[in-house]
Amino acid sequence: MTNSPTSRGRFGVHGGQYIPETLMNAVIELEEAYDRYKDDPAFNAELTELFNSYAGRPSLLYYAGNMTADLGGAKVYLKREDLNHTGAHKINNVLGQALLAKKMGKTRLIAETGAGQHGVATATAAALMGMECVVYMGVEDMERQALNVYRMRLLGTEVRGVSAGTGTLKDAVSETFREWTNRIDDTHYCLGSVMGPHPFPTMVRDFQAVISREARAQILEAEGRLPDAVLACVGGGSNAIGSFYHFIGDEGVRLIGCEAAGRGIDTWETAATMNTGKLGIFHGMKSYFCQDEYGQIAPVYSISAGLDYPGVGPEHAMLHDSGRAEYVPVTDEEAVCAFEYLSRTEGVIPAIESAHAVAHAIKIAPTMGKDQIVIVTLSGRGDKDVAAIARYRGEDLHE
Ligand SMILES: *Cc1c(COP(=O)(O)O)cnc(C)c1O
Repeated sequence: MTNSPTSRGRFGVHGGQYIPETLMNAVIELEEAYDRYKDDPAFNAELTELFNSYAGRPSLLYYAGNMTADLGGAKVYLKREDLNHTGAHKINNVLGQALLAKKMGKTRLIAETGAGQHGVATATAAALMGMECVVYMGVEDMERQALNVYRMRLLGTEVRGVSAGTGTLKDAVSETFREWTNRIDDTHYCLGSVMGPHPFPTMVRDFQAVISREARAQILEAEGRLPDAVLACVGGGSNAIGSFYHFIGDEGVRLIGCEAAGRGIDTWETAATMNTGKLGIFHGMKSYFCQDEYGQIAPVYSISAGLDYPGVGPEHAMLHDSGRAEYVPVTDEEAVCAFEYLSRTEGVIPAIESAHAVAHAIKIAPTMGKDQIVIVTLSGRGDKDVAAIARYRGEDLHE
């Protein structure tokens, strides 16, 4: 592929392995194992079998006819990752990593989680594969996402609260790295997005690339041609890079990442890393991060808990620098309107994260010709967000 990382996982100036000495052995062991298995036909056959028989792949590429007619421009297709087992794209990555960890002889998975989605996916894979599992979660997030904490416990996972820092996702990531250094012989760190030190950004991308592998074949089958644009929301960037990957070489396909602008990119209450962040090094990688004037990681905000990470994966940073992909900010208000719009128009309730991509499609489809095509990735389903959206609209559902 055109953009396989160069040595030590560099994407242009981004990526790399900025980690303490104590973590080096674990990361090298993982890098070697991934190099060994990534092109192994037996490994890939086993993973495809898990995708198909357990996760429910391939996911549909659904022609959103009502939305298309209503917007009056480009044809809109939805890549339905929301139909996967556990309700989002996260299962693709987690099954890949859990299978690799098993091949490496590991018996235990650890993971970080913010909203709880990645934690639930990891707990699910651990239950399926008979592995022990511990998930680290900020204490603040544990309170906000009590239902997901209980779900993980049901699945047999231990959830450990992290009270350091702001008690949110970035602190849970730091704690999980720390825990990994303490116990590398039987433990694999199942990281949740295309971030962290090499090989994570490449490995997670490869597992999520199934999205664009399917979507490319599905659109060729349905329309006999490639789309004009592919849209996906960007938190760390895993569903977006998975949606973009097999289209990167197709110059006529615009790749558009939709970031969470929160209350707006001219406020501090935002998580739009590309639009407001600066180059930095954090969590093992060089990339763009939301920072204050002293270079400290800034607190980020979005209505969507899955998008409020202060950084972005290094491959996106490279695609941004080269101009191959565009990154646009979408506010809470726009995302909530898109959440309601898709529910009403197509009978599909999207995750509030995914609604950020839907919102941008609502903006651009009417400006495009009727012979043009956009694919929007629905990274997840919206059941988890219903109470929060009601609250946003001033209604209390007494959950
Ligand atoms: C976690 C999550 C995201 C954000 O993560 P990426 O790595 O940017 O894909 C987006 N949508 C849903 C439904 C999620 O659960």
